[in-house]
Amino acid sequence: MKPVLYIVIPCYNEEEVLPITGKLFADKVKYLVSVGKISEGSKVLFVNDGSKDRTWQIICDLAGQEECIEGVTLSRNRGHQNAVLAGLMEVKDKCDLTITIDCDGQDDINAMDAMVDEYLQGCDVVYGVRSKRDTDTFFKRATAEGYYKVLKWFGADVVFNHADYRLLSSRVLKELAEFKEVNIYLRGMVPLVGFKSTSVYYERHERQAGESHYPLRKMFALAFDGITSLSIKPIRMIMGLGFMIALLSFVGVIWSVVVHLQGNTVSGWTSMTSIICFLSGIQLICFGVLGEYIGKIYLETKARPRFIISERTYE
Ligand code: UDP
Ligand code: MG
Repeated sequence: MKPVLYIVIPCYNEEEVLPITGKLFADKVKYLVSVGKISEGSKVLFVNDGSKDRTWQIICDLAGQEECIEGVTLSRNRGHQNAVLAGLMEVKDKCDLTITIDCDGQDDINAMDAMVDEYLQGCDVVYGVRSKRDTDTFFKRATAEGYYKVLKWFGADVVFNHADYRLLSSRVLKELAEFKEVNIYLRGMVPLVGFKSTSVYYERHERQAGESHYPLRKMFALAFDGITSLSIKPIRMIMGLGFMIALLSFVGVIWSVVVHLQGNTVSGWTSMTSIICFLSGIQLICFGVLGEYIGKIYLETKARPRFIISERTYE
């Protein structure tokens, strides 16, 4: 029996790019079937992440035209990571392996051949890794690479220059399903699941059409904790306040030293003022960081569903 592959693709407001890339994924599945690597029951599953444009309609049309294309839609926008997870959980019991990839054509579809080969040779996890980032702007490249370094430094086990283009076996998916956390960050979770893994290298292209959903602001939010939530924003503001006070205290320190040098203070005043200013700033920063974790715990205790599928193109 040949293994069944599902290519899982999250889509959010992708009406410009889907008509171009949608068919390419189906062609890839057909090609892999034709060379005898995967079973004829292999499919492409598009996950519409609550798009506000015609994306879902396009997916339904594609599903009507191509037998190997299926689609599910989430009841609202839940973000990239949740959309990928929704797709993976949807297919975990009916496939042997999955490959997740973005729908914008930036990740080289042809790397899938090598990924499937690695799977056939016994790997359960195959990471797609960008060999270079020429097509990204200098700024995106620098911030992204800096981000990986910071994550590593904090002790998070992530694969350098690997995004969410990866092959996972159904064995891994079944274990991943046991990770019940609400704040999901697949890049960090997959290495925790373990199993035999390897990497396949590819060159990243420009987006085929449409625009990135990761503007600077979103990139920073992702870099900060992966997922933001309205209910923990006040805590963030405390942290912002802390930074502001820390900055002001720096000015305060200089000011108090100047006043001291001018000689019109009582002794001990300068050091007292400096210490109070400085420490209160630091304390607020610390509260903010602690609050961040409490916010996360708050969200985890509610244990709300990570995604809700409202429609499917099949059944
Ligand atoms: N995406 C999603 N939900 C979102 C934002 C993005 O499912 O809320 C999808 C998007 O359709 C794409 C992938 O996640 O397939 C990556 O997004 P994008 O290409 O905008 O990010 P970048 O490649 O610039 O990091
Ligand atoms: Mg992209």
